[in-house]
Amino acid sequence: MTFALHGLCASKGVAIGNVYIVERGQVDIVEYALPSNMREEEVLRFSKALDVARGELRGIKAQIPRDTATDVAAFIDTHLLMLEDSAITKAPIGLLREKGCNAEWALKLQRDAIVSVFEAMDDPYLRTRKDDVEHVVNRIQRTLLNQDTPLHDRDERPLSGRVVFADDLTPADTVLMQHQGIAAFVTEHGGPNSHTAILARSLRIPAVVGLHHARNYLRDDELIIIDGRQGVVLVDPEEGILRQYRKRQRAIQQQAAARKKLHRQPVTGDGERIVLQANIELPADIDAVGEVGADGIGLYRTEFLFMNREQPPDEEEQYAAYARVVRALDGSPVTIRTLDLGADKQVDGVRPDASVASNPALGLRAVRLCLRDPGLFRPQLRAILRASAHGPVRMMIPMVSIVQELLQVLRIVEECRRELRDERMAYDRSMPIGAMIEVPAAAICADIFARHLDFLSIGTNDLIQYTMAIDRIDDEVNYLYDPLNPAVLRLVQTAIKAGQKTGIPVAMCGEMAGDAHYTRLLLGMGLKEFSVHPYDLPEIKHVIIASHISELKRLTQRVLRVTKASTRAELVDEMNHLVSDS
Ligand code: PEP
Ligand code: MG
Repeated sequence: MTFALHGLCASKGVAIGNVYIVERGQVDIVEYALPSNMREEEVLRFSKALDVARGELRGIKAQIPRDTATDVAAFIDTHLLMLEDSAITKAPIGLLREKGCNAEWALKLQRDAIVSVFEAMDDPYLRTRKDDVEHVVNRIQRTLLNQDTPLHDRDERPLSGRVVFADDLTPADTVLMQHQGIAAFVTEHGGPNSHTAILARSLRIPAVVGLHHARNYLRDDELIIIDGRQGVVLVDPEEGILRQYRKRQRAIQQQAAARKKLHRQPVTGDGERIVLQANIELPADIDAVGEVGADGIGLYRTEFLFMNREQPPDEEEQYAAYARVVRALDGSPVTIRTLDLGADKQVDGVRPDASVASNPALGLRAVRLCLRDPGLFRPQLRAILRASAHGPVRMMIPMVSIVQELLQVLRIVEECRRELRDERMAYDRSMPIGAMIEVPAAAICADIFARHLDFLSIGTNDLIQYTMAIDRIDDEVNYLYDPLNPAVLRLVQTAIKAGQKTGIPVAMCGEMAGDAHYTRLLLGMGLKEFSVHPYDLPEIKHVIIASHISELKRLTQRVLRVTKASTRAELVDEMNHLVSDS
């Protein structure tokens, strides 16, 4: 009899395949004392393990085909960089010498210290980077313990067409498994913001994460269905359900093939031109932006430039990175977001001495942190202004909650402009400045903010987190993370209306904008600008082209009025069926 297991959606898509269980949990580490005359030998053993781990990762990187998305190699590079970081390479040696313990134990102590710092961080993206630490440390531990690491070396069974179930997977595992043609994967841990989840989306592998104890309910080789969008695993599916999902799988494949060829502009069926931009994290992502024909970049998350290093990048380095993106976009606008670091004091040398906030998501993050630390903020503002000499740049301020913060930012920007003028440096005098609407206070008062700004952009990832009082990466409360919650919809509507009233554009750059399930509702609510991950862009474009805004208005008003969640969901489904029919 069919039964369902519910996890979190990491990557959409349907897969039908046989289970492949990977038994590879945390490595068991024991402590033992080493006499002083054996400690240097232990240091050598540790250094050799580091070399083996580096060699393994380089080997995996070399296997990535040239036509794979650029960020795939970047994920492996992140781990390689960590294998050069003194926190992983030197600190355990210090502990080993100081405590006279074995290398595995010293590495475990250091891992615990790093992970506790990451766990206290505010920014969800950076917080999930603790997964990377775990992955890299596990790789070294397995080498020290002479345990096999790579998935493909451990088992002779072919992975092709299988659905892999594991406690957790590293980005490197994911790349290897993709080569071997896995159909999908499910992990018991990890959230939708983990590198592995992001990678799965880039590689188009359906994936479900955070499905606790999944392996207890399954047997190797049994047939299952993965519904990535719903985050559901259907075990022992009946023939009728299998038929239904096979049909859906075929439809998804046909649609994807048709949409790739979609070079048309995103204009709705009733002639409304919609701006469809891309979100990027690194200058290397611009290739993907070009491939999907985006109307520019609606969100450039600059914090990635500050990661995996001991000192923040200076103005020159930031200028070079931003200018590279602006030049590559060749006249299309680039929206550069100022730093959105959280209370992540130990990260990348930013505020290394600050104490850890007890509630970091509500603490000194993003613009709050930047205003507190002009030494961090000013070089970035100057670098963004200077990049604006190379093409259309928009500056975007994250996480504003009161207008005074914004006015303070605008004053500092003005001072930077004056400095650049005096230094005879080029910049665009009319560079638009906007803010993200991601705190409920800012959404409610969006009209007041709008009076001082050139554009607004709704960040639904944080807006939902703060509206529902849930940590966006905590899978225990993820059931409350609902873009269709009436409180969320009212705030989104308020922000859109504020833009209409004051005559400035309102975009959306959170994940809600990149989920085609909500595109028609957002169009019906009056949203005219979307910024989405490049991989989601063709699907969103397809939905826009197949929509008639005039037809959506009535259903949208009903969605906003109904009080019952199930009726709201049904109405959204009804809107989406209009898409497939047209
Ligand atoms: C958001 O909060 O919706 C957003 C786009 O910003 P980030 O995901 O980087 O916090
Ligand atoms: Mg945000």
